[in-house]
Amino acid sequence: MAPPLLTETISMKSPATSHEVRKQEADVAEPFSSWGRRTEATWTAAVGSLVLVLICPVWIVGNGITLEYFDGSLSNMLSAAYSDGLSSFTHQYAPRPSMESSIGYATWLAFQATLYSLLPGPISTGQLTPAGNLLKYKTNGLLAWVVTHLLVLIAAISGILDLALIANHWEGLIIAVNVYGFLLAGFAQIKAHVAPTHPNDRKFSGSLIFDFFAGIELNPRFGELWDFKLFHNGRPGIVAWTLIDLSWTAYQYQTYGYVSNSILIVDLFHTIYVVDFFINEDWYLRTIDMSHDHYGYYLGWGSVALLPTIYTLQVQYLGRYPVDLSFNQVVGVLSLGLGGYTLFRSANHQKDVVRSTQGQCTIWGAKARYIKCSYKTDDGRTHESLLLCSGWWGVSRHANYLGDLMQAFSMCAVCGFNHLLPWSYFLFMTAILFHRILRDEERCSKKYGKNWEQYCSNVSWRMLPGVF
Ligand code: NDP
Repeated sequence: MAPPLLTETISMKSPATSHEVRKQEADVAEPFSSWGRRTEATWTAAVGSLVLVLICPVWIVGNGITLEYFDGSLSNMLSAAYSDGLSSFTHQYAPRPSMESSIGYATWLAFQATLYSLLPGPISTGQLTPAGNLLKYKTNGLLAWVVTHLLVLIAAISGILDLALIANHWEGLIIAVNVYGFLLAGFAQIKAHVAPTHPNDRKFSGSLIFDFFAGIELNPRFGELWDFKLFHNGRPGIVAWTLIDLSWTAYQYQTYGYVSNSILIVDLFHTIYVVDFFINEDWYLRTIDMSHDHYGYYLGWGSVALLPTIYTLQVQYLGRYPVDLSFNQVVGVLSLGLGGYTLFRSANHQKDVVRSTQGQCTIWGAKARYIKCSYKTDDGRTHESLLLCSGWWGVSRHANYLGDLMQAFSMCAVCGFNHLLPWSYFLFMTAILFHRILRDEERCSKKYGKNWEQYCSNVSWRMLPGVF
């Protein structure tokens, strides 16, 4: 047990004395690797991992089949699978690999890897890892996004490239991203054993399947700066997002001779989300994906296979089955989506700014209120951090997730309520963010001990005050 330390805290109970710093004894979390990802996998975690590894690709393929052959109706697709029998159904409908798609996807990966390696960009710093490593990253994502989109638009305008190319090769691309996702997760697993980048930041759970799913290395790299997470999530994943949107919009235009207001609204929401991500790439380095999740199937396959296919389901649906929204519907979804974005951005910014200024900032026009807390890394050193208690972080502990869900809801709502499939993104985000709340709070509790309890007693709601 670590000796008690003196920690500065700010009373949240009485607004009149909210800036009055008082000294208080607080337990600092145990030194160790225990605030990182779990080090032992229960059998339920192992079985759950296996199920997810097997089911997620089937989910992606099933969505592709439903959109291509069953007018977006999951129930029609499932009843056909039941009546035809799995083998005949698979033979008839399963997507097939194509040489063109595979070569195109390999070229895309190589192109993005080149941009990632060669384009200039500021060097930013991540979060201190459980072992005490502080990593540097080249954050040139915005430039990569601009260069990629400019080149694609120039090629399309000059007639070299059909903008609907991605949509027209979707079947083969579904196979290509899945194959690469599995190769990447397998490679990350082997690398973690034979050539780890930071051996002291690895976690072994004792279960091969859980390690494959959740990852072993925290930040696998080639050399000093070539980071697996930042590259794969940002570039083949998030840069592709808006290109896929463009392609399905072009597909709708080529098929129906017009572009629906619903697909334009999805394009707008996605572009705001993606450009925001790249403008704030430095902030992303201190989020859970980058700082806490290890690199395996979840992040590797997830960013190259799940992200481009599930996050773009609305445009895949609308490209084939346009929806025309009334003026009131347009106003409704735009208000909810842009309101969600404002909440999401402002909450994320408040957290980042309070830490980068060591609390010397104003939030909502008043001096920031925070709890000053300590934690230990594996090397035995003690570090200080802040838990913001004002602004959005004084309203609820995960208001940024609420903003994200409002956006996700609006992105799906433009597809109407005829089918469940285009709502997959909202359902997926709800599931991962609620699960994330539970696992993140468990980790923060181990990391900050009594200070986390104090934060939770000051800010009792997790997401939506009065509800959850
Ligand atoms: P957060 O940005 O909320 O980060 C949580 C971490 O912040 C905690 O682990 C803790 O880390 C720190 N923290 C917690 N409470 C406070 C506080 N009061 N003051 C200061 N720091 C605090 O979560 P995510 O990284 O999951 O999400 C970042 C954004 O990305 C969110 O807006 C989310 O909606 C979005 N997102 C999007 C996804 C997508 O696929 N579209 C998927 C997941 C997230 P520590 O103290 O260790 O630094």
